[in-house]
Amino acid sequence: MRRASVFGATGSIGCNTVELIAASPEEWDVVALTGGHNVALLAEQARRLHAELAVTAHAECLADLREALAGSGIEAAAGQAALLEAAERQADWIMSAIVGAAGLAPGLKALEQGSTLALANKESLVAAGPLLMRTARQAGATVLPVDSEHSAVFQALVGEDLEQVERIVITASGGAFRDWSLERLAAATPEEAACHPNWDMGQRITIDSASLFNKALEVIETREYFGVAPESIEVLVHPESLVHALVGFVDGGLMAHLGPPDMRHAIGYAMHWPERRALPVERLDLARVGSLTFRAPDEVRWPALRLAREVMAAGALSGAAFNAAKEAALDAFLERRIGFAEMAEVVEEVLARLDGETALCADVTLEHVMEVDHLARQRADEAVRERRT
Ligand code: NDP
Ligand code: MG
Repeated sequence: MRRASVFGATGSIGCNTVELIAASPEEWDVVALTGGHNVALLAEQARRLHAELAVTAHAECLADLREALAGSGIEAAAGQAALLEAAERQADWIMSAIVGAAGLAPGLKALEQGSTLALANKESLVAAGPLLMRTARQAGATVLPVDSEHSAVFQALVGEDLEQVERIVITASGGAFRDWSLERLAAATPEEAACHPNWDMGQRITIDSASLFNKALEVIETREYFGVAPESIEVLVHPESLVHALVGFVDGGLMAHLGPPDMRHAIGYAMHWPERRALPVERLDLARVGSLTFRAPDEVRWPALRLAREVMAAGALSGAAFNAAKEAALDAFLERRIGFAEMAEVVEEVLARLDGETALCADVTLEHVMEVDHLARQRADEAVRERRT
């Protein structure tokens, strides 16, 4: 049996992971499940998978969690320290599916113990890619991509030599607003942005898909994960979301990965890698699909993509600033303090204001990253307030 923990078990990726674990209980010994506010679901999952421990990120939710687990013999804990302790419990395979930069510290702890980390939490690679990868190398840990595009690239690279990769193309559906006029886009509401045409995901990543900030994070994620030059990473708008990524080689060959828009494929691949297992996902019927369409992204319409290129060029800690500013701008949009199109403007302002404070320091630590994260959120709040005065 393999010992497994799921961080962010109550979210969209987490629930899919729990489903897949529950489908083969004889293979998994579940150590820790973590969640946030949804303690009723967390307790239900912990009972179902016979977990050793359930942790909520929020101290005020502990009493409810304890009550929901009463009589089960499952330990309950709460808060940041408890999350880190859960990540320190020996496990062979750990799913990192907390949303946002909050996933970074538990992910690093999991890597320090040499586990295999299935990484859905792209924000930690954007904010601290070199630190994460260095920690994995030093501990002999493995990081496996769960983001669908990166899982696709990873699968297209099996048996290949990275030296012979000329370009990596990740696709973008274009999100909820791909055909909206710029005027209509400016007035888009959080409810409208939270409806994805193809994928069923958490609220934050769905809105990031509409602004293409999700794709911007994924461009940086591609660079951090595969170590390729920024100019060899391309984005292609593909409204059907069936081709997830393509890898172009020096001989002109292009390997595409296709599959239904169902995260259980990428999660299941990371669970069983290097083997493949039968998974309960729909099989594509390309004759029925008929045609696949592609177009180049418009970087004027989607400034997030241009910002990602600037962040990669700046290097150092600017990924941490970019991610935190994006998270703060999204919070402001959700609270209706700024409009949809203003999110990118706020992020751009924060990057300009922080220039110099994200300078390169030799060995980036978690403390450096969190300091820049904190500063970027402060600057974003200032930028949002100034717009309203
Ligand atoms: P959800 O919002 O659905 O779930 C987020 C999870 O994190 C929940 O378990 C939530 O708990 C928990 N959580 C929220 N805030 C905190 C915090 N401050 N500390 C600890 N835990 C917290 O997100 P998704 O499942 O959509 O996404 C998870 C990660 O996977 C993200 O990084 C996302 O970018 C990435 N990803 C997601 C994809 C998808 O299809 N959903 C595809 C590719 C990547 P609770 O709900 O109980 O409050
Ligand atoms: Mg993705």
